[in-house]
Amino acid sequence: MQIEDHKVVTLHYTLTDNEGAVIDKSEDGSFAYLHGARNIIPGLENALTGKTAGDEFSVVVSPEEGYGMRNDSMIQEVSRSMFEDDSQIAVGMQFHAQGPNGEMLVVTVKEINDDSVVVDGNHPLAGVDLNFDVKIIEVRDASQEEVEHGHVHGAGGHHH
Ligand code: ZN
Repeated sequence: MQIEDHKVVTLHYTLTDNEGAVIDKSEDGSFAYLHGARNIIPGLENALTGKTAGDEFSVVVSPEEGYGMRNDSMIQEVSRSMFEDDSQIAVGMQFHAQGPNGEMLVVTVKEINDDSVVVDGNHPLAGVDLNFDVKIIEVRDASQEEVEHGHVHGAGGHHH
């Protein structure tokens, strides 16, 4: 069975940066996603199209097909009073914030000053080449319910 839209794919993956440091990997091989539903980044999804269970491959996903390019205008200095308890703030902490168009985004604390905090709204992997090593474990048809919800149910997926 080939990977195409409306298939549920279970795979092992290891994600490394260009220096070979592991950024992320699948836990217990139980990562599953619904193909064609934008559950995963476009560059990886495109590379998986047409593959079958047992296939192993490596793919380098550019930022354009991954988490986007870094945008310096997403780095902002905000007042410490914006934070409920500013004594708890530390560099590297992440917060949910509202973006310029009302969208939710995750910001990362970059720098803490006497009166202000510098936060970065770029995705932590923006601007990074993503090196995936992938092994496909299983390909199956998605259920009607999974297609309607746009995600996988059961092992490695949503439980609700
Ligand atoms: Zn669901």
